[in-house]
Amino acid sequence: MSCSRNSEERLSAYVDGELGPFARWRMDAHLRGCADCAARVQALRGLSERLRREVPRHAAPDALRERLRAQLGAPAPAPRTRTGARPWTWLAGGALAGSAATIVAILAGTLLLRQAGSDDLVAEAVKDHVQAALQDRRIEVASSDQHTVKPWLSARLDYSPPVRDFASEGYTLVGGRLEVLGGERVATLVYQYRLHMIDVFVRPAPARAPGSARSLRGFNVVHATGGDMDYLAVSDLNTAELGAFVERVAKASAAAP
Ligand SMILES: [Zn+2]
Repeated sequence: MSCSRNSEERLSAYVDGELGPFARWRMDAHLRGCADCAARVQALRGLSERLRREVPRHAAPDALRERLRAQLGAPAPAPRTRTGARPWTWLAGGALAGSAATIVAILAGTLLLRQAGSDDLVAEAVKDHVQAALQDRRIEVASSDQHTVKPWLSARLDYSPPVRDFASEGYTLVGGRLEVLGGERVATLVYQYRLHMIDVFVRPAPARAPGSARSLRGFNVVHATGGDMDYLAVSDLNTAELGAFVERVAKASAAAP
């Protein structure tokens, strides 16, 4: 259910601490009762934090950006008016096609792939994780209910991924989406743990499994297998907790009937 009471602009102002005390108090009260606005605030916070962390690292020199844009056949972006604009406001607004954000996201992925070799699943998984976040398409089916997420994914794949919620352990299933990994369509389960988003790519166990834990550009990638399935988790969560979680997911699927 989508709430029309607050515009993205107003929520951004709240996230930035720009509302007056009374408006802020009213927003606090509203957020306690409105899951929709609370989720949008959380998304804005996550996005702004991620952009602060990621974009400077991937910021493209103009020449490189221009070349990439030409390769993609994208229209020239409008002149950037950065004065006073919150970079995540226009991101969250969904005006993404051909925008600087899309180009930065694609560039990030391209650089990652070039750095690690195009057949490197770890780099590809990180690229998928970053692009989905920057393009605001992390969740294609939103639900904490495994009985909603599983059939949605199964209907679009030639296998049926095990789906479980681990909210009682702090890892809340928030939804899923499809990604392409190693040239195949794979189920992607999205979990939230505290302020961290975790993508878990689930696919039938391949003959050649990727290596164990790796770290790339501030993201950790951890791998586990269980119940004939292969799990690749990507997050900015630390390797120890991410590793324990993906083992837990794999073990639960191995134990499932
Ligand atoms: Zn609301």
